[in-house]
Amino acid sequence: MIAPPSSSHRFVLAGGRVQDPANDRDGVVADVWIEDGCIVAAPADPRGWQRVDVAGLVVMPGGVDLHSHVAGPKVNAGRRIAPQLARGRRHGQPAAVPTIHATGSLYAALGYTTVFDAAIATAAADIAHRELAELPILDKGVYLLAADDAEVLAAAARDDRAALRTLLATAIARGRGWAVKVANPGGPAFWKRGRRGDHHDLDTSLPGESLTPRVLLERLASAVGELGLPHPLHVHTANLGLPGNWRTLLETMKSLAGRRAHLAHVQFHSYAGGDLDETSFGSGVAPLVEFFDAHDDLTLDVGQVLFGGTVAMTGDSAAAEHLAYATGVPLVSHDLHLEGGCGVLPIAYRETNLIHAWQWAIGLEWFLTAADPWRLALSTDHPNGAHFTAYPHLMRLLGDAAFRREALSRIHPRVRSRSPLRTIDREYTLQELCIVTRAAPARIAGLTTKGHLGVGADADIACYRPNLDLAAMFAMPAKVFKAGVLVAEDGQPRTAHLGRTLTATPRP
Ligand SMILES: [Zn+2]
Repeated sequence: MIAPPSSSHRFVLAGGRVQDPANDRDGVVADVWIEDGCIVAAPADPRGWQRVDVAGLVVMPGGVDLHSHVAGPKVNAGRRIAPQLARGRRHGQPAAVPTIHATGSLYAALGYTTVFDAAIATAAADIAHRELAELPILDKGVYLLAADDAEVLAAAARDDRAALRTLLATAIARGRGWAVKVANPGGPAFWKRGRRGDHHDLDTSLPGESLTPRVLLERLASAVGELGLPHPLHVHTANLGLPGNWRTLLETMKSLAGRRAHLAHVQFHSYAGGDLDETSFGSGVAPLVEFFDAHDDLTLDVGQVLFGGTVAMTGDSAAAEHLAYATGVPLVSHDLHLEGGCGVLPIAYRETNLIHAWQWAIGLEWFLTAADPWRLALSTDHPNGAHFTAYPHLMRLLGDAAFRREALSRIHPRVRSRSPLRTIDREYTLQELCIVTRAAPARIAGLTTKGHLGVGADADIACYRPNLDLAAMFAMPAKVFKAGVLVAEDGQPRTAHLGRTLTATPRP
């Protein structure tokens, strides 16, 4: 029995099959040397270094979730609105919205070592950080919904670039943020004036302003670029969840192309069809992928839907209200200081439901038709599309075409016969799964010392037993190290030590 190494320990993970796409290593047998929580070059004299034998294991960087919801008021509302799920494990599943302590342990048990909460209102940053301070094991950060603030909108409206930069920089500094997120650009302004936040397009002026959502997006993306933040503007565009919204996402991409920008949970924004006829609902992915493939400045996460019960939570209060009224479920909606807010409701995705089946197929279509895995991050928009503990299942859907075909055979027949999925045989390789779960999200988030196993990287490492059943393989890594500390083994947490809070420093 090998004693768990401490962070001050010098040790080597010896003989594993290294998946390190950032350094062009694809399954090569190599040693990984670790000192003081970082990966270092092989020492000239290896005496005194502890040897941890990982022969036969697949060694990858720790997982990076760049779009999740794990802290703050919306998550606590989620715990209250789904008490039957929050009470504890049912059918072997963890709570839909686990406690902050369980959240860290469950992520670590999957081999994830970094997570970002993608929607924290500026007024809620303090409480979110107090909660995240209790999140065990993982490094963590928050994206701030700074574009909801009235002063930010006013500065953007009068195209006062200096004021816009100052306001965003102040929000990031005070809120200890990593990135700026915009959820439904300008939507809160419509929402506050009693107009539905949905069904405005990118060129509808905000109430009482000359500013349109399109211009707001352009000015925000430029300001974030000028501030030199590690991650570009994180964009949840307008008309989330609505039939026909693929056009809004295409227009969003057109507006942002040429600037760096990240498109969040594109699955929820890729729907064809019209309002009045449910059977017209379908996939708008093909033209979106064509544009995305041709524009290198854009990155995205998918926000995959998987079947089962969960809780939806969004800074896009209008979308939450629309969905709650349409499905007749309870809704929690709250606003903070009239500057942003959130909507929270329970949801159950069913294979035989036409819309849900399309959502499932549309997410997979994005994964399987976008050309460059380096610009795409695996996400379920936890817990909106599915719980993060379902990531191994999603990885199997991507890497195992037979498993996917079998899943496809169970969904609504209309989707089965019309989705392009039926003709797609692509299977993600182990290297591609490694890219979309860690190498790419680390690079997209702007984390230079994560997502790879090169010298100078954080020693955040997951060691998996090879298994043709990819879901089983990725559900239970043999060993997980965070900053050189063994934090989980065979699905069991080994420590509750706390990770770091990742904060960005805007360029002055
Ligand atoms: Zn989200």
